[in-house]
Amino acid sequence: MPDAARFGDKGVVALDLLSLTAEELRDAARARLSSGAGAWSDIHADAVLNGRFEPETHGLNAKSCAEWREHFGLTLPEVVRTTDEPDTRGTTIKAVLKTHDDLEIECVRIPMGGGRYTLCVSSQVGCKLACAFCETGRMGLLRNLSVSEIVAQVVVAQTALGWPIKNIVFMGMGEPLDNADHVLQALRVLADRRGLSYGQQRLTVCTAGNPHGIERLGALGWPRLNVSVSLNAAFDDKRDRLMPINRKHPLAKLQAALVAYPRRKKFVYAINYCLLPDFNAEREDARAVAEFCAPIGRVLVNVIPYNPGNVPLTRAPTDEEVDRFLGWLQEEGLPVRRRVTKGRSVMAACGQLGNVELRKRRLPVVRS
Ligand code: SF4
Repeated sequence: MPDAARFGDKGVVALDLLSLTAEELRDAARARLSSGAGAWSDIHADAVLNGRFEPETHGLNAKSCAEWREHFGLTLPEVVRTTDEPDTRGTTIKAVLKTHDDLEIECVRIPMGGGRYTLCVSSQVGCKLACAFCETGRMGLLRNLSVSEIVAQVVVAQTALGWPIKNIVFMGMGEPLDNADHVLQALRVLADRRGLSYGQQRLTVCTAGNPHGIERLGALGWPRLNVSVSLNAAFDDKRDRLMPINRKHPLAKLQAALVAYPRRKKFVYAINYCLLPDFNAEREDARAVAEFCAPIGRVLVNVIPYNPGNVPLTRAPTDEEVDRFLGWLQEEGLPVRRRVTKGRSVMAACGQLGNVELRKRRLPVVRS
């Protein structure tokens, strides 16, 4: 589902280059252009690898260049600011990007050690799911990001910001599977071997628990794509309070979707568990996590210490509380990993992305 866009004059609906795989661009160019379509490969590579659309640099005459510009375009968000948090393990950097309609989205560069970085990208401006511990959830949903706006975060990170990105995780602003059409196409563009060439194993989609979206992700037929689930509570009453999506899709429904997901032999679900003192950090909570995970196959439980946002739900857990909970999960036979908190001081850590002010700015526009 490529982005039809704003570029065309003369009434032509133009396509954004970042919303297309190389082959899709080839087909669209052949269908639309009377000459110069043969430059599709160079134009595509220049767009996704360099963030440039300059048909003139690919040996085309003026008429062909004009046709390319009439039918295709490229929009990159502006980098408004970056904030960084240095650490012995590397520097976490949050980039705030401005969209064409004056909204802001955020992506975060997370150090993985050895000079490798993961880019956490956004899929929506805001989010309607309103998880109680999440800053983005306080914004509400302003709109979905288009395919090109999702891919552009990676292109800007690699070009304008010069970040060497190894992995991409859909854990920024928004629930990716609430914007499944665009996220699935963005995955195709990111994985395209003739373009950005991120292998499936370098891509992770994280969901708060959208069963239909999980089904659609499975239908992609990508066995090595990573899937991660924000669980955060394994009792329905607690999860209802922390994650309102649970009222619509309770744990049993989520569990059934994960069981039905087509998994290869060594597939491992990442189960994310944001540890909130006084909410979900007791012995019985660890047991319930194990019971939830038992039927879904191999898992790795990532325990993420809660990062208080601008309106804290509670305090951050102490190291002792995190270690104790990890120990309980291990007693239940679960493989665990303590997610090191990165970027908390610059509001770039899990659950801290977003700008509630945007909603106020946006409201008059929505009403008019
Ligand atoms: S945690 Fe994710 S799904 Fe929940 S409100 Fe925040 S962005 Fe949305």
